[in-house]
Amino acid sequence: MDSKKILLSFDVEEFDTPLEFGKSLALKDQLEYSYHGLLAVLSLLEKEQVCATFFTTANFALHFPELIKKISETHEIASHGYYHSSFKNEDLEISRKVLKKITGKEIYGYRMARMMPVDNQTIIDAGYIYNASLHPTYIPGRYNNFHKPRQPFMTGTLLQIPASVTPNIRFPVFWLSFKNFPLSIIKLATKQIIHKDNFVNFYFHPWEFTNIKDKEKLNLPFYISRLSGEKMIKKLENFISWSKMKGYTFKNYWEQASFLIEDKNTSS
Ligand SMILES: [Zn+2]
Repeated sequence: MDSKKILLSFDVEEFDTPLEFGKSLALKDQLEYSYHGLLAVLSLLEKEQVCATFFTTANFALHFPELIKKISETHEIASHGYYHSSFKNEDLEISRKVLKKITGKEIYGYRMARMMPVDNQTIIDAGYIYNASLHPTYIPGRYNNFHKPRQPFMTGTLLQIPASVTPNIRFPVFWLSFKNFPLSIIKLATKQIIHKDNFVNFYFHPWEFTNIKDKEKLNLPFYISRLSGEKMIKKLENFISWSKMKGYTFKNYWEQASFLIEDKNTSS
């Protein structure tokens, strides 16, 4: 029996968002923001006893190898590329190897920085089993994937796990909607998605869980900075409690990916 599942994911990266908005921020500071937010997320997940997937850049992992190793004992570590601000095809395989070396575990999943398009065969050749880089909706100024599949599908041997959107209107449940819409809307969308697909996935960034309101230093638009730090923790905590009350269980992406691959193999 396929229970109803929630997959939480966090993109552990250099906090380069201010650079997108014309502000420079030293690498050291970019790493610090993510590091502090990551600690806050980890203590929430520990308190709630739920597991998640951390899509991590090799660059971040090499700066905090002990922490990444420790996380891998409870959660899944997957790849978010080598650097967050640049990409070369060889980064796919090198980042997987770096993360494998640090954690001592196989790395199965990949998510491209900013959910940008990436060649599927290159991901397969780099040794990944699943790809979580597709956002099947329309995000103004970023991409229009409204016509792409909403549910998981195979591209050759690669399992694609698109970010969750509601059936029909394709309302996305992810960090920006989580931050900008009332929790009642997020819960409603979660119920609709889970009713149809049996699972829902979310993606956040650790840097959202630390204070990013410093306009002078970061110059972030209001829709990004309006909710951060303690307020984001509280909102996510509320969402986790509600999910448990609904009887949903928390899994990491790889657990769900193995389940889906087995299901596709037995039904074909
Ligand atoms: Zn990212």
